[in-house]
Amino acid sequence: MFWLVLKMEKMENKNFNLWLQNMQLNHPLVIAGPCSAESEKQVLEVAHELKNTDATIFRAGVWKPRTRPGTFEGNGVKALPWLQKVKDETGMLTAVEIANAHHAKLAMDFDIDILWIGARTTVNPFAVQEIADEIQGTEKIVLVKNPINPDLDLWIGAIERFHKMGVTNIGAIHRGFSSFRKSIYRNIPSWQIPIDLKNKYPSLPIINDPSHICGNREGIFDVSQTALDLKFDGLMIETHCNPDEAWSDAKQQIKPDRLVEIMDELKVRKPRFEKEESVSKLNAFRKEINEKDDQLLETLAERMQIVESIGKAKKESNVAVLQNTRWQEILKKVVDKGDEQGLSKTFIEKIFKAIHQESIAHQEKIIKG
Ligand code: PEP
Ligand code: MN
Repeated sequence: MFWLVLKMEKMENKNFNLWLQNMQLNHPLVIAGPCSAESEKQVLEVAHELKNTDATIFRAGVWKPRTRPGTFEGNGVKALPWLQKVKDETGMLTAVEIANAHHAKLAMDFDIDILWIGARTTVNPFAVQEIADEIQGTEKIVLVKNPINPDLDLWIGAIERFHKMGVTNIGAIHRGFSSFRKSIYRNIPSWQIPIDLKNKYPSLPIINDPSHICGNREGIFDVSQTALDLKFDGLMIETHCNPDEAWSDAKQQIKPDRLVEIMDELKVRKPRFEKEESVSKLNAFRKEINEKDDQLLETLAERMQIVESIGKAKKESNVAVLQNTRWQEILKKVVDKGDEQGLSKTFIEKIFKAIHQESIAHQEKIIKG
């Protein structure tokens, strides 16, 4: 138990990147392959088309978490030898999703190289722990997809469970978050969440899954480029020789030749400015940004003082904190003004709702005090 505690303490400092460094790639890591392993023929066909591309890892779902019963739920254990054939015939590493300890054992028995935890499993600490117990101490690579809900702690918790059980080769996959809001995405990317994860564990490789974020083929290039611009370490892209006929996720899978095109067109940015002239230009801009941030903070603090004076007046006259008409008036005014200045409605609403919430909290304290 003692060594487990020691290990846990070190998670922030751990170098999670070794497995990726050992691959010695001169491009972002690419994981490609069909959503589901449908037949041996289909699996091998895609794998051979991916053989001489940037794809290092071949993915295929064998146990499929489907929203409704009665749809194709995967070929199960029968498909694992097909993946062994992929490895033998193409040299690619293989990856499958595991959702319980039984899957984990079978994937290990059939020597699958990479085990990934699906979004619907990451949300369930019992399932994650069961899998972590089953594979404890493994040197296989374990990739943890984000949970379906935008909960960074739940994502971290799942990663911790594997780390605690002595799994050393770990990475994360960002596949977007489910939302009740209507959106162009199947799963909203909420980029700040994987960025926060990267800031907490700087060496943890993070792979973007544009297929499950977009839910269509058209958006894949753009989301992939954003991921590379944000310094993601790789991409997981669903690839099928005949996407329209795919047994699951037909709308979002792309053909291997489109994958090659996308990889060619994507720009990998340098991690930082190199030329001295660009560095000093950047520093000058950063100085200006810092000054603007100071001004913003001062203005916010001054605004809050006025809010507090209003709070005192409300207390004296025993008037309710929330004045909805006034708030609607403010919101409309700032959204219109923001629009004139090229600031989007969503952005302005988000900021002013946060300001309003904080103002209410301050006035509540005064009125109750
Ligand atoms: C998949 O990768 O096919 C899959 C089911 O993904 P997710 O867990 O992200 O929904
Ligand atoms: Mn899929």
